[in-house]
Formats: sequence, structure tokens, C-alpha cells
Amino acid sequence: MNAMRGRPSELDFDLLDADPASIALVRRDGTIEWVNRAWLAFGQENGADMRAISAGTSYFAAIAGDARPWLVRAVEACIEGDRILEADYECSSRSQVRTFRMRLLPYHDIGVLAEHSLRVGRPRVEPLVGADERCYRNAQGVIVMCSNCRRTLRGDADVWDFVSQWTVEPPPRVSHGICGVCSSYFY
Ligand SMILES: [Zn+2]
Repeated sequence: MNAMRGRPSELDFDLLDADPASIALVRRDGTIEWVNRAWLAFGQENGADMRAISAGTSYFAAIAGDARPWLVRAVEACIEGDRILEADYECSSRSQVRTFRMRLLPYHDIGVLAEHSLRVGRPRVEPLVGADERCYRNAQGVIVMCSNCRRTLRGDADVWDFVSQWTVEPPPRVSHGICGVCSSYFY
């Protein structure tokens, strides 16, 4: 393995490389320093642009729009507070229902180990349920979904509903945010 700038000595990279979870060593500024085999394999299976998920790119770029500052703060909070942060997130497809758990493990003041592991993965048996878009568009005509749990904000009310159809096929003009429950993990 190539020597890495400031690489923490006590991490066992061979062990991390053999782990089934997708693991990346992420610097405080979001730069991905190292990724394991499972990380790359997951990207490949899901049609990711491999250059965009490899070492040297930004971990924060993986999360959409408005939710990005939340992940930036989460990494910061993990390092500053020297504590492990966990969040489950929904990442389902038309045929599979999947929930992943993200763990951010502080690594001195250098960064975090970001570990993403599949918690629930099963064939989808229940039908995808849609909803009336008019109830979910805000005053600007935008539908806001939580990047983490994939729930949808009801109009301009502070209520988040799970609309399974939109987790797979988002309606037009969707913006991504973080709901109160998901946000509270990190504060
Ligand atoms: Zn949420």
C-alpha cells in the first residue's frame, strides 16, 4: 500500500480492506484519503462514476444540495466532540428495500472513518405508494425531501411523511434537506 500523508499509524488498513462495510478515511475538509474494497465494489454495482468516489475526491459531494452542510457539520462535530455519530438512512430501489447505517468514527484531529453498512436489505413486497404532489409543494412550488430518511415535507407544515414512490422516482422540482429527527442525531 502506498504511504499516505499523515496516515494514522494504528489503523489496520488490511483489516479495514477486508471488511464488508463500505469504509472511507475522510479528512476534516471532506477529502477522501483512502477507501476499502467494499466501498469501490458498492460504487461499481450501483453505477457510480468511479473517479468521483475514489481517494482524492470529496466525501461531501456524495450528498445532495441542502443536506451537504449537515454532513459537513456532522464530520466536524464528530472530530471536535471526539464521539461516534450514527445515522440510518434509506436507500431503496424499485425492487429492493434497503436501509444503511452510517457511522462516523473520529480519528484524532485528522478526520473520520466513515463506515456505511447495510442494516436491512430485502425484496420489496409492498406496493410503492404515491401521494398528491399539491399537498407537498411549498410556496415556491418545491418538494423537500430529507436526504437521510427520505421522508417528504408536507407543504409548508413541519410534518414529514414517508412517500415510498418518491424515494424511488422523485417528482419534479425536489430539493434535499434534513428533517428535524435526522438533524437531531448530530446536535
Ligand atoms: Zn430525516
